[in-house]
Amino acid sequence: MGRAFVYVILGGGVAAGYAAVEFAKRGVSHGELCIISEEPVAPYERPALSKGFLLPESPARLPSFHTCVGDNEERLTPKWYKEHGIELVLGTRVKSADVRRRKLLTATGETISYKFLIIATGARALKLEEFGVSGSEAENVCYLRDLADANSLVNVMQSCSGGNAIVIGGGYIGMECAASLVINKINVTMVFPEAHCMARLFTPKIASYYEDYYQSKGVKFIKGTVLSSFEFDSSGKVTAVNLRDGSRLPVDMVVVGIGIRPNTSLFEGQLTLEKGGIKVNGKLQTSNNSIYAVGDVAAFPVKLFGETRRLEHVDAARKSAKHAVAAILEPEKTGEFDYLPFFYSRVFAFSWQFYGDNAGEAVHFGDYSGSTFGAYWISKGHLVGSFLEGGTKEEYEAITNATRLKPAVEDLAELGRQGLNFALTV
Ligand code: FAD
Repeated sequence: MGRAFVYVILGGGVAAGYAAVEFAKRGVSHGELCIISEEPVAPYERPALSKGFLLPESPARLPSFHTCVGDNEERLTPKWYKEHGIELVLGTRVKSADVRRRKLLTATGETISYKFLIIATGARALKLEEFGVSGSEAENVCYLRDLADANSLVNVMQSCSGGNAIVIGGGYIGMECAASLVINKINVTMVFPEAHCMARLFTPKIASYYEDYYQSKGVKFIKGTVLSSFEFDSSGKVTAVNLRDGSRLPVDMVVVGIGIRPNTSLFEGQLTLEKGGIKVNGKLQTSNNSIYAVGDVAAFPVKLFGETRRLEHVDAARKSAKHAVAAILEPEKTGEFDYLPFFYSRVFAFSWQFYGDNAGEAVHFGDYSGSTFGAYWISKGHLVGSFLEGGTKEEYEAITNATRLKPAVEDLAELGRQGLNFALTV
């Protein structure tokens, strides 16, 4: 059994949805494009899973957050794909790829061949087992990467109202889930090995602002240690966690957010890899010129930093996907991908945005006892990164522009005093 398409997108996540809209805009004929996804639903905005999806009142549910609502674009429901003649092969895992023959083999035994392939396989959540702890299969241990995970998290949360949850990991999945658990009236303890939350991005000062707020909502933090084992009841449910520091905490549920691993395995040994992802050039083209890679799985040159990076952010997925489609359909007119890294998160009533790189020295500004504050990062005498909580649209635009311009900064104290005015007048 086999089918042939001109364009195949492997993976049906955020990047796939934004690639599809770009194909439609630039004109793709009916029957030319196919999206293969292991997930049973059309591409959706994954960030909604740890935000609107977990709300106790009027939670977000599909079809409301199909791509591409995240960029205020058209919402691509299954009907949209049908109308545009784009084949959605859902609930189907690709189990092997033959790059030389341009063929993919699905777990159902179908061969799908392509002229151009876009790899958009994203990443999977790292499991506790990879750190030597077993118990991930217990029904009250939750991960959060896809819709199925989000549905089971909601079910477990609903059965634990008033109970105790442990959140393992202090990154954004941990922070967003902890906030959602609190909103769902569950007592939360966060456990992570670092000295403060969001350690890959936040400075201690930024982190302590959010940690103070979480504590005011009853969240407890246990830092500098990791999970060592679970205790189970006779039905296999986790009843307590043991930490490496010797403490033991009784629990009703556990949420694990300890990082991700890009889904590269189909292409290992066939395409060049770098930084744990599939290496691409400025056109998002892999070491095989009929194959492109986008989103979380792609390691691409970030011009601003002069080096290859793999980003795990939704904005990078959206924009790299669109750029790859442009590069495939209009190669002569499409330049190098010139991307300014951007990441955001929303918890409780907070909302922050970060642009650029958090390299070098951080300079804080604004009112850290109020609701609008931020930081700039200065490396080798230039502004390379900006963080802002509680800004207006204009202020976010200003820090975006300032970060892109990389202005020289000589006096760090003066930069701190100027704060947002620096970005607004640069
Ligand atoms: P994905 O969206 O992960 O899609 C990959 C797709 O490929 C999936 O459908 C998967 O099933 C499919 N697939 C993989 N392998 C195969 C195979 N062999 N066969 C068939 N299909 C396959 N980023 C932010 O910037 N801000 C946020 O607030 C934010 N919140 C997030 C909240 C959550 C809960 C999660 C999980 C992520 C969040 N992110 C956020 C990150 C963002 O969602 C990702 O960067 C983005 O989804 C990456 O898009 P992608 O298309 O590369 O991968």
